[in-house]
Amino acid sequence: MKFLRVLCVIWGLIIPSLALDREAFTFTHYDLNVRVEPEQQRLGVRGRITLRNDSANPQKRIALQISSTLDWKSIQIGGQAVDFVTHEYTSDIDHTGALSEAIVTLPREVPPKGTIELDVGYEGIIPLDATRLTRIGVPEEKAKHTDWDQISKSFTAVRGIGYVAWYPVATESANLSEGNSLFETVGRWKARETEAGLKIRLVEAGETSANLPRLFCNGKGGAQTHEQMGRSSLVQSEYSFDPLDFSVPLFVIGGYDALARPSLNISFLPGHKPGAENYALAADLAFPLVVEWFGATRQKAETVELADPEAAPFESGGTLLMPLGSTDSTRYELTAVHQLTHAAFNSPRPWIYEGLAHFAQALEREQQDGRRAALAFMGGHRSAIAETEKALLAAHAQNVAANESLINTSIEEFYRSKAMYVWWMLRDMVGDTALKKALAAYHSDRDKESAYVQRLIEAQTDHDLEWFFDDWVYRDRGLPDFRVESAYPRAKVGGGYIVTITIENLGDAGAEVPVTLRMEGGEVTRRLEVHAKSKAAARIEAPSTPQEVIVNDGGVPETDLSNNVFKIPPPVVAK
Ligand SMILES: [Zn+2]
Repeated sequence: MKFLRVLCVIWGLIIPSLALDREAFTFTHYDLNVRVEPEQQRLGVRGRITLRNDSANPQKRIALQISSTLDWKSIQIGGQAVDFVTHEYTSDIDHTGALSEAIVTLPREVPPKGTIELDVGYEGIIPLDATRLTRIGVPEEKAKHTDWDQISKSFTAVRGIGYVAWYPVATESANLSEGNSLFETVGRWKARETEAGLKIRLVEAGETSANLPRLFCNGKGGAQTHEQMGRSSLVQSEYSFDPLDFSVPLFVIGGYDALARPSLNISFLPGHKPGAENYALAADLAFPLVVEWFGATRQKAETVELADPEAAPFESGGTLLMPLGSTDSTRYELTAVHQLTHAAFNSPRPWIYEGLAHFAQALEREQQDGRRAALAFMGGHRSAIAETEKALLAAHAQNVAANESLINTSIEEFYRSKAMYVWWMLRDMVGDTALKKALAAYHSDRDKESAYVQRLIEAQTDHDLEWFFDDWVYRDRGLPDFRVESAYPRAKVGGGYIVTITIENLGDAGAEVPVTLRMEGGEVTRRLEVHAKSKAAARIEAPSTPQEVIVNDGGVPETDLSNNVFKIPPPVVAK
């Protein structure tokens, strides 16, 4: 009997959670009053959230999750308190590695596509907490510079989904030790929330001091008001995200000074004006290049300083949080061009969104120090891509399926580094003008099919790009491996030579690759399309004695660079 009762208790706990579909509802609108008390590290939220049942089934229960250091105080529908139970739900979607989950039992079922409004209240503290990282073995010092979110007297910065659940969310558990589980969970949430709206009234309640804190949030708005109440002061500001559109809502509170430039605003901490000015200069330099390639910025970029000088930077849309103590101007230029590209060009696809921002960095290096500098910059990414391809090949053995293609991948080395090369190769193939026109014609809300970008570029050029997109974007075929198979010089009547060069591609991905013939006193470069597991030949005229052939200047990532140079034996002069 006792055994049976224990079982009932266990089933009582387990069965409902099995039946609970945590991702059934889309949170279509948030209207939140957020009160922050830095001295107590406290966050108190009251507000209304609107949810829509996007599952195929009627739903009787709703999961609402907030950070595990926050507690649910009330949940109401139409002024009536509703039944809910709370428990801790382990998930690495939050910096604490857990969520306070409320499971709400609704008075009646919400049918598919039906909506429901909930009035919610929750509060607690948001201290620095790197539990999710330290428990998988990240050293605490390092973890703190990554999960730096906190509310504290000296500094307050709190990021949303994927860092701190400071507004209610509902996702299945994510686990940092399981491959890309966190990335995918956050990705599913963001995709569901692109159309959602979020409105917050942010209030900072603190002790009166000579310097009022400045509030920052990455939504629209931000006019700040101030109220004095005895020894305490209230600083208030309103923001809206309409819609959320893949952004991570965040707020920052600190004693900031501001610097405004045409391309961006910088909020910096006392004493860090030189760093802020350096960054502003870098942005001024990068701005014309970004406008030329990606158009005028959709939004003014915002850079907000993080107090921890070793904090890992964080970006969401055109907003960038980072320390501003550096004096490395090249790094600032690379960072600024990346940030401004995000502010100018939006895409729901990571390989386009991040790939272009990294591509812009290569363009910036080229503009500053020439093509070689750009190739050297990209070369810094090459081995990481090659290693990842190798590891994948080993993992999949026979089955190199389409799931790590650029359009599907969640691997950073691919949607950042490999994608950067893809854009660079496209530019080498079709030219600057055609690619710029194609980018200008791109609309993120029309990007519904994977071939959308291919068609936009093809509309600007005679090139057939199907094979290229198939090898690099729609499928993961690894990298090419070029070798110069042969180079035969033949002397021409009247002087000079014709050199017949054969290039072999040993890899499974094709590319258009530059082939350079070096000769006495000069060189000639031709571009050659060499498909996967194929050969292609070029005939190049040389006015003086040919010496060597080099395939690939570094613009195409490949697995083996050791077989790219071919020494031409001294030619036999025909009689
Ligand atoms: Zn980025």
